[in-house]
Amino acid sequence: MRAEAVEAMMPYLSELYANPSGSHRFARRARQAVDEARDTVARVVGCHPNEVVFTGCGTESDNMAIVGAIARRGGVALCPAVEHHAVLHVVEHLDGRSSGGHASGRGSVVGVDAFGRVDLDELAAILGATPDVTIVSVMAVNNEVGTITDIAEVARVVRRHAPDALLHTDAVQSACWLDLRDITPHVDLLSLSAHKFGGPKGVGVLVERGGPKVDPLLVGGGQERERRSGTHNTAGIVAAAVALDLTDRERVDENVRLVALRDRLVDGLRDRLDGITETVPREYKVAGSAHVCITGIESEALLFLLDEAGVCASAASACASGAMEPSHVLAAMGVDRSMALGALRLTLGQTTMAADIERAVDVIGAAVDQLRRHHPTPAVADVSAPTTLDPIASAS
Ligand code: PLP
Repeated sequence: MRAEAVEAMMPYLSELYANPSGSHRFARRARQAVDEARDTVARVVGCHPNEVVFTGCGTESDNMAIVGAIARRGGVALCPAVEHHAVLHVVEHLDGRSSGGHASGRGSVVGVDAFGRVDLDELAAILGATPDVTIVSVMAVNNEVGTITDIAEVARVVRRHAPDALLHTDAVQSACWLDLRDITPHVDLLSLSAHKFGGPKGVGVLVERGGPKVDPLLVGGGQERERRSGTHNTAGIVAAAVALDLTDRERVDENVRLVALRDRLVDGLRDRLDGITETVPREYKVAGSAHVCITGIESEALLFLLDEAGVCASAASACASGAMEPSHVLAAMGVDRSMALGALRLTLGQTTMAADIERAVDVIGAAVDQLRRHHPTPAVADVSAPTTLDPIASAS
C-alpha cells in the first residue's frame, strides 16, 4: 500500500470508527469521509458520484455486473477467453461449463487474437446471431500479459450489433497505466479494485453509468443506495480514494519512468539469455508488464529459485494434481504449450527502482542457467507430457 493511503485510513480504524449509516455526529463524520472518497473516485473515473458503488473487491464488482445483468434481464452474457476468472468463470457458469449452470441465463466465450485482444469479427458475428445478448464484458488491460484493449473500438461493435446490450469492462488492471476518463464514456459498467493501485485489499468499485443497470448481488441493509448492502468499510474506502487520486496524478510520469525500466528488464534478459520470447510486443502492453516465455525451463522451477533469491514473480500457470497446466490466457492466444510452460510474468510498479532491474536480470539469468544445466527440459526432452516439478513437490 502507498504510505499516504495507510496514513489516511488510520483515523477510521480508531477514533472515527463509527458506522457511516448511523445518525450521530461520529457517524456523520464517517459518512462525510465516504462521500468525499466517492467524489474523488468519480473525478478520476470520469463519472457522477452517484454512479460509484463501493464493493468488497474487484471480483465482487465483476460478478455483480454480469450476474446482476442476467438476474435483471435474463439472456446471454459474452466475454473473451482471456478474461480474469472473476468474469470468465461467471460466464462459463452461465454456459453450464462449470458446476451447475445458471437457470436464468446463458454465457458464451469469444476468441482473441495472438496478443489477447478480443476478436471483433467473431464478437460481431455472435452478436448478430444472438438477439438476446444482455451483457458483453471485455477487460481493458489483461492482468497476465498486460495487453491493452481499445474499449472504444469494442463499444462501436457492441452498440452497432447489440444496441440493447450492456458493456462492462474489468478495468482492475488499468488505473496505473490508462486514463480511466477515456474508457468510462464508452461503457455502462466498469470495475476497479483498490489493491491494484496502492490502496487496501478488500475494496472494489463498480461504476454504473446512468443509474442502476443491474440487480444488486448483496441485499440487506440497503447501503450504497440499495446497490450494495453491507456496512461500509470506511477506512478502506478512504484509503482507496487517496491511492487512486495519487495514482492518477503520477500516472503520466510513472508511465515514462516504468516503460524505460521495463525495457531495460526485457532487453537485459534477452542480452543475458538465449531463448527469450516476448509474449506480446511492447507497443500493445502497459508499462508495468514484462511477460516472456523462456525455452528450456519450466516456470514453476524457476519461480522456486527466484523466490529463494528474493525475486518475486509469477508464471500464471495453475498446478493441478501434479500436472502443469499452462494459463488459460496463453492457451487462448494460441501460445504453444511447451512455450507456455516456460512463462515468466514480471510486474513493475510504484516501488520498482533501477537497482531492482539489474538485480532481477542477474538473478533470473543465473537461475535459468542453473535449470538448463540440471534439467534440460522441455526444449530438449519430450514436452507433450505433463511434468511433475521436484522443487515445487518438495516445497509443498
Ligand atoms: N480482474 C482482474 C483483471 C484482476 O487482475 C483481478 C485481481 O487480480 C481481479 C479482477 C480480482 O480483483 P480482486 O482481487 O480485488 O477480487
